[in-house]
Amino acid sequence: MITKERILQHEPLKIADRCDQCGAQAFVRVAFGPERDLLFCGHHYNRHEPVLMTQYSHVTVTDERHRINQKPSVSANAD
Ligand SMILES: [Zn+2]
Repeated sequence: MITKERILQHEPLKIADRCDQCGAQAFVRVAFGPERDLLFCGHHYNRHEPVLMTQYSHVTVTDERHRINQKPSVSANAD
């Protein structure tokens, strides 16, 4: 479990990953450390990016916004 957590920030985002702000599918992960990260949808990352980049210089950003329009979110009602 601990090993998995340590590489979590490098794994691609999954459909099950949700924006911490609104619950939409997350396309950006901002990792503050091996066990602490935030997930954002494209909309909310756009909104918070300037602050994040200004106030946190050591974050690891996984930006997969290029996938947003790749295909329709057929998982929207999968739950
Ligand atoms: Zn959001």
